[in-house]
Amino acid sequence: MTGGGTSCRTLILTDRRFLAHDAGIGHPESPARLRAILTDLERAPPAGLVFEEPRAATDAEIDAVHSPAHRALLRSLAGKRARLDPDTAMSEGSWEAATLAAGAAVGAVEAVWSGRAASAFALVRPPGHHAEAAGAMGFCLLNNAAIAAEAGRRLGARRVLVLDWDVHHGNGTQHIFAARDDVMYMSAHQYPFYPGTGAATEVGAGAGRGFTINCALPGGQRDADYGAVFHDLFLPAARVFAPDLVLVSAGFDPHERDPLADMRVTERGFAAMATAVADLARESCGGKLVLLLEGGYDLAALAASTRACLEVLGGRREDFPRGAGAEAAGAIAETRAALAAAGRPVPET
Ligand SMILES: [Zn+2]
Repeated sequence: MTGGGTSCRTLILTDRRFLAHDAGIGHPESPARLRAILTDLERAPPAGLVFEEPRAATDAEIDAVHSPAHRALLRSLAGKRARLDPDTAMSEGSWEAATLAAGAAVGAVEAVWSGRAASAFALVRPPGHHAEAAGAMGFCLLNNAAIAAEAGRRLGARRVLVLDWDVHHGNGTQHIFAARDDVMYMSAHQYPFYPGTGAATEVGAGAGRGFTINCALPGGQRDADYGAVFHDLFLPAARVFAPDLVLVSAGFDPHERDPLADMRVTERGFAAMATAVADLARESCGGKLVLLLEGGYDLAALAASTRACLEVLGGRREDFPRGAGAEAAGAIAETRAALAAAGRPVPET
């Protein structure tokens, strides 16, 4: 930031200390991921970016989402190496990285909420959306998106949308907000696939019934198919919800070159998704939009896709190509039927 009170277009919250989280040799969620993004941005920075280092999330911010026992366990492993589940490990710098990642998510929300930044992208690791209230899972230690959503609520947002385009279902985020009508969770993901959750019939519970939206897609979906998911499902549902704040769990593992999954999305597709959420945020809440990095495991695809989204935050527009296939249409129809059965039908477009 340049001086008090000035606002910038796009705030990037990132920190070299994220590179000190090391899940082990050969692990796909490696420090090289963030290094690839930062090297690419340093080589040719898109216009309008301001870089800042985040603060660590406070205990209270973490405890708004996670059990004190989970926080205590992670803290007790600070400075050590430990394995938390078959996919999830900590190194000496992991606790600090995790608290900074969650703090970056909160700081991004604070910046757009106050108007200090037009939008923000927290370029963090470890990722967050698989972390449950009481446990680490799937490369994730703390649920950055959930912690950010709670921070937004405390700042005064009445309705927070979390849109998750990572190729894996964000089980943690869904479960944390399943019974809530003030935080809507929507996800498009490969299914059946890791972590096994995210069926169309999972629509939330109690007061939160109809506020969880899962588009469970077979592998192989392309930019045009994601376009149908956005235009026929996500955007009409989000307009009814009318969020005060839009958060995106931005994973770039639906990319066609990603080694962990089977989708066929390109950089142009991610730019079109970013355009769609930026338009939604402008219509609904004066543009209050925060992107949070989740997965993405092909280094060049990850860097190029992150850049494409940052170009959109800087003013580029990209439309989805036409020509969605029958599989996407079928998945969308299944989700729409489940939401109608839950008493929260999505308007026809
Ligand atoms: Zn993922």
